[in-house]
Amino acid sequence: MADTIFAKIISGAVPCHKVYEDDKVLAFLDINPLTRGHTLVIPKEPAESLDQLSDDSAAALGRVLPRLCRAVIAATGVRHYNVLENNGAVAHQAVSHVHFHIIPRPNPQEGLDIGWSPKTFDRAEAQALATRIRGAVDP
Ligand code: 5GP
Repeated sequence: MADTIFAKIISGAVPCHKVYEDDKVLAFLDINPLTRGHTLVIPKEPAESLDQLSDDSAAALGRVLPRLCRAVIAATGVRHYNVLENNGAVAHQAVSHVHFHIIPRPNPQEGLDIGWSPKTFDRAEAQALATRIRGAVDP
């Protein structure tokens, strides 16, 4: 596991503007915010990507994420927002430690711009693929 900047923030070696902490989760302001209030929510467990995270850490993150979204809304007065979690360099992950972005979207010009180009849905292929994914879900 790489010694990431987020591991240093968790240990206190690198400072941050903390907004929340419990025994499994830390949240702090992003140093290069897309918009005012852009917040990062990270597990203390040093998992690189979401698929590598333990159920315990995932549950701890899931429990607190909506509360932190509400706090960002309350503090910024911005009602709309995106929650983003990138996995792998091709998917725009720059720091190899799981992190959820909470990004306020005050208007269509500011915040997260999403390129969304849906493909056609092949029903026969979809049935085979759904069966395959179902079979691959950990018990
Ligand atoms: P990613 O592209 O990996 O999903 O996003 C990484 C995020 O971490 C970026 O938005 C970047 O601004 C933020 N970041 C990188 N280094 C630091 C740091 O030292 N402190 C804080 N607060 N945020 C950081």
